[in-house]
Amino acid sequence: MIPITVVDVAAAEELVLQVLRSGAIAQGPMVKRFEDAFAGVAGVPHAVAVNNGTTALVASLQVLDLQPGDEVITSPFTFVATLNAILEAGATARFADIRDDDFNIDADKVAAAVTPNTKVLMPVHLYGQTADMGKLVPLAQEHGLALVEDSAQAVGATFEGRPAGSFGIGCFSLYATKNITTAEGGVITTSDDTIADRLRVLRNQGMRQRYQYEVAGHNYRMTDIHAAIGIPQLESLEEITKARQANAEALTKGLGGIKGLQLPQVLPGRTHVWHQYTVLITDDAPVSRDEFAAKLTEKGIGNGIYYPKTVFDYDCYRDNDKVVISDVPVAERVARQALSLPVHPKLTDAQLDTIITTVREVLGA
Ligand SMILES: *Cc1c(COP(=O)(O)O)cnc(C)c1O
Repeated sequence: MIPITVVDVAAAEELVLQVLRSGAIAQGPMVKRFEDAFAGVAGVPHAVAVNNGTTALVASLQVLDLQPGDEVITSPFTFVATLNAILEAGATARFADIRDDDFNIDADKVAAAVTPNTKVLMPVHLYGQTADMGKLVPLAQEHGLALVEDSAQAVGATFEGRPAGSFGIGCFSLYATKNITTAEGGVITTSDDTIADRLRVLRNQGMRQRYQYEVAGHNYRMTDIHAAIGIPQLESLEEITKARQANAEALTKGLGGIKGLQLPQVLPGRTHVWHQYTVLITDDAPVSRDEFAAKLTEKGIGNGIYYPKTVFDYDCYRDNDKVVISDVPVAERVARQALSLPVHPKLTDAQLDTIITTVREVLGA
C-alpha cells in the first residue's frame, strides 16, 4: 500500500528527550524557540503557538471582539474546523462559493455575501495554495472587514511573494498529517503588535502576570514537548516543500491528457506547497469518483476525499440559525468530484510511477 500520508518526526528525538529530561514539559523555552523559528519561515514578526489549529482560528476571532450577530464569510469547501471555530467564537457563518481552478473562495462572489453585520473575511488556503489575495485584501478593506486566513494547509505557500498568513491574522495547524507537525498544535501569525499581545494573554487564562487577569481567557497553550517535535521540521521546511513540489510535478507530467481527469493547477503568482494533490474525476470519466477511489484502494494506492460534502451540509448544522446556508454549486460539484493522491515527501520514484500507471489503468487511458 502506498499511503496517502507518512509522518516522519524521527529528527526530533534528541530535542524531545531534552525536554523530557528537563522536567519542564509544559509551555516554556522550547515553545518560544518554535515560535521564533515559525515567525522566520512564515515571514511575519509574531507567531503565537497554541494547542491546535482549531483553537488558532477561535482565538483569532476572539481577539477581534465579535458580538452576537456578527458575521464571518468563509469557504463552503473546507475542513469542518473552519465552521466550528466561527460558531465557537459566537459568530454567524456565511459562505461564498469557490472556484474550480484553485478550490478556494471566489473573490468575485464575496461582495454578494456581505451584510451590515459582516466583520470578518476568512479565506481558506486549501490543499497548499493561497486564495486570490490580490482581490480579497482590497475587498476586505473596502468593506471594513478583518482578514483571518485559515492557513492550516498552506505553511510556506506564497501569493506574489508574500507568505500565507501574512496578509491578515494567519492560522496554521500542526496536526500529525499537516506539512509540518507537532502531533497536535497550532500557530497564529500577525504583524500587529497589539493583536499578538492580546493573543498571548488570551492563551494563558487572560493573565500577563501571575494572578493578574486582564480578560476572561482560556488555556490554549502548547507544550514544550510538542514544540520540540516541530523545531527540526521548521529547519527543513524548504526541503520538505521542494520534495512535495517535485512529486506534484511528476504526477502532473505522468497524468496529462486523460479523459475524465482534471489535474490541479498552480495559478500565476502563487507557489503551491502541495498539502494535497487533488484531481477532479469529471462527469465524462468512465468511472465515478467513488468507484475510482475504491479501485485505487483495491490496487494499493492510498487516496483521500477532502471533502465529500460542503461544510454545512450535515444535520447538525441544518437548524442552526448561525449557519446561513447558500447556493454554492461549484463547491457541491467539486465535493462530488475531488480525490487526493499521495504527494508526501517520502514517495519514491517507483511509487510515483505506480500511482501514475494505476490511475491510467483505472481510467482506461
Ligand atoms: C487541519 C485543519 C484545521 C484544524 O486544525 P486542527 O489542528 O486539526 O485543529 C482547520 N482548517 C483546515 C482547512 C484544516 O485543514
